Amino acid sequence: MTEQEIKSILSDCGAFLKGHFLLTSGRHSEYYIEKIKIIQNPDKVQLLCSELSKKFSDVGFDVVISPAMGGIVLGYEVAKILGKKFIFTQRENNKMTIRNGFELSPNEEVLIIEDIVTTGGSVFEVIDCIKKIGAQIMGIGLIVDRSGGKVDFGFLTKPLLTMDIKTYLPEDCPLCKKNIPTAKPGSSNKR
Ligand SMILES: [Zn+2]
Repeated sequence: MTEQEIKSILSDCGAFLKGHFLLTSGRHSEYYIEKIKIIQNPDKVQLLCSELSKKFSDVGFDVVISPAMGGIVLGYEVAKILGKKFIFTQRENNKMTIRNGFELSPNEEVLIIEDIVTTGGSVFEVIDCIKKIGAQIMGIGLIVDRSGGKVDFGFLTKPLLTMDIKTYLPEDCPLCKKNIPTAKPGSSNKR
């Protein structure tokens, strides 16, 4: 699939929005990714995850791990397609931890799957969890890298789509100059 095809799948989900958005940072942008919309469409999840699985079919690993919440559905789907074990991490007292009850041993090889990365915060925290146990990280699969490829995790990283979404200060915003009405995106997308 081309990046354009991935974009239109995200548009079909209602996850890739074009307009004039007021971000929580106070900046404005023309595009916005409402990532929760992806998992609202199980058929699209299947399409995207089958594409993501292809990218890692020749990478050896035992376990797929994803951060809660958004990554869980995607990681689970990739694990199912490739016939691997699946576990997830979640924040407990603000600290990313492997969910109680899951097992990860130092001799296991791990693939990290996440939906969207902007600064990569959650993925870096997952990397720390895995390193603490001593398991090997074999790769990181993403639906969208919104950093435009600037985030470097130090491991093989394959996004389905790389984007560098421009944001503007209100006074410099070309959409404001065109008097296009503004909208506040629905869910938090600060990661
Ligand atoms: Zn504006």
